[in-house]
Amino acid sequence: MAADIFCQIIAGTLDTEVVWRDETVVAFLDHRPVFKGHVLVCPARHVESLLDLPGELMQPLLTTAQRVARAMGPALGADGSFVAMNNVVSQSVPHL
Ligand SMILES: [Zn+2]
Repeated sequence: MAADIFCQIIAGTLDTEVVWRDETVVAFLDHRPVFKGHVLVCPARHVESLLDLPGELMQPLLTTAQRVARAMGPALGADGSFVAMNNVVSQSVPHL
């Protein structure tokens, strides 16, 4: 079975604008942004949904989401941001 598109981005086989990368989390710009500054924050290893997220990845994932949200003000002149997680519903890629 082929890797999903997020695993391909994380592996570097698909080009995208990565805004954060460490050993556990990767964040990159959505190729079809719903909002200005639409960033997808994903576990670096394949995890399909919130229900599959191991406990040790919860803190790094949320910390990265907070880091990205904090950057929206200075980067975009935004007063705030919208942070959400699709969990199977509205999840177009089976990678959290
Ligand atoms: Zn994946």
